[in-house]
Amino acid sequence: AAAAKKLSEFGVQRVAKGVGRLLNEVLESGSGSYVTTATGRRMLDFSCGIGVTNLGHAHPAVTKAVSAQAGKLVHGQVNIAFQRPYLELIERLIPVMPDKSLDTFFFWNSGAEAVEAAIKLARHATKKQNIIAVQGSYHGRTFGTMALTKSKTGYGQGFFPLLPGVFATPFPYCAHCSVNKATGWKYSPENCCNNPLQELELLLKRETAPSDTAAIIIEPVLGEGGYVPAAKGFLDGVREICDKNNIIFIADEVQTGFGRTGKMFAIEHWNVRPDILIMAKGIANGFPLSGIVSRKELMDLQPAGSMGGTYAGNAVSCAAGVAVAQAFKDEKILENVNQRGPELMNMLKDCAKDSKTSKLIYDVRGLGLMIGLEFQPGHNYASRLQQKCLEKDLLVLTTSIYDTIRFIPPLNISKEDMGKGIEIIRSGIEELAA
Ligand code: PMP
Repeated sequence: AAAAKKLSEFGVQRVAKGVGRLLNEVLESGSGSYVTTATGRRMLDFSCGIGVTNLGHAHPAVTKAVSAQAGKLVHGQVNIAFQRPYLELIERLIPVMPDKSLDTFFFWNSGAEAVEAAIKLARHATKKQNIIAVQGSYHGRTFGTMALTKSKTGYGQGFFPLLPGVFATPFPYCAHCSVNKATGWKYSPENCCNNPLQELELLLKRETAPSDTAAIIIEPVLGEGGYVPAAKGFLDGVREICDKNNIIFIADEVQTGFGRTGKMFAIEHWNVRPDILIMAKGIANGFPLSGIVSRKELMDLQPAGSMGGTYAGNAVSCAAGVAVAQAFKDEKILENVNQRGPELMNMLKDCAKDSKTSKLIYDVRGLGLMIGLEFQPGHNYASRLQQKCLEKDLLVLTTSIYDTIRFIPPLNISKEDMGKGIEIIRSGIEELAA
């Protein structure tokens, strides 16, 4: 324990403070739904490394595929030649794309890089410059993606100027919608006033003309911005506006993709076709890999050599991606998401109705195993519940903007482990209410 403490103190001193950290602990190992720290503390992981190790830690098939690839070819470099796992991964992904038109791929390393790739493509393809993001969005920490991020002010401070030509339009989060509140209308994600679509039309008239607007980028379920699924009608409406004005529709599925919401990609819940889809996180269960996919005519407008990167689409990461794709079939991952998700969701909804705990809760929402619990503002309940969960060895994260805690358990979590997590969360909420 003393050695582990010393190691963590070394980390506090020598790792850049700008990284920020929830726990000053050293994670030593992980297996399935659990991680173990250097002090021997075993924690149930409802964070998955921010929605990445979605098939659990050290998934045996992924580990096997990665070891085999590491012994064969680690790095090929995509601007030099193809390598086999990269192409195999494309073969695996084509059949699970949310639309048949999405047939041509480019892989990179991180989510933010893939967002940058999407913006480059949209600008190049349309010969237009401006990009519209939605309020509450999160897209990353590079200059371009910080500019597109409209969910936190703190982390972008002191880095200006960011990418110019970025505009923000409202995302329909009806629980806080002033239009609905004025009419005494009751919140429901199925029943949005869709004022945000009118706002988008106005934005295109007032601030960024269609002839200057290359793309709109949207997370179908806001991630860092509060785990808010798009209200019914919004994404369809945006699609129509894009079609009318020759604007590229970019779906950022970095956090929502690969089964997190109970479908392979979240956009399938609304049946809307994006022009560019962005993938990362769950794609390779922890190995650095991201990508964009689009239709061939659009993707191929970019000249050879303008896409790539030293490590882009690394062979070992792609091998992990192929193993993930196979695991989705072998282990019926989506079925498990759709069984476990309601277990957690129903418990939270019960708390929202219960006479003891309902006064704490503002909203419960989410899809599949991407579930947000928003508290009444002003009491810091989310971080207080987070602390209570951590004390009981359950790792959970909060989101920005609203006082919201988010639950992102592994997609293949067992009923038993889900039950353990649910009990810790329920008792934590009850303690807060007491
Ligand atoms: N887009 C979304 C929707 C995300 O959730 C994230 C990461 N939380 C990113 C982009 C950025 O990904 P990365 O941290 O891998 O750069």
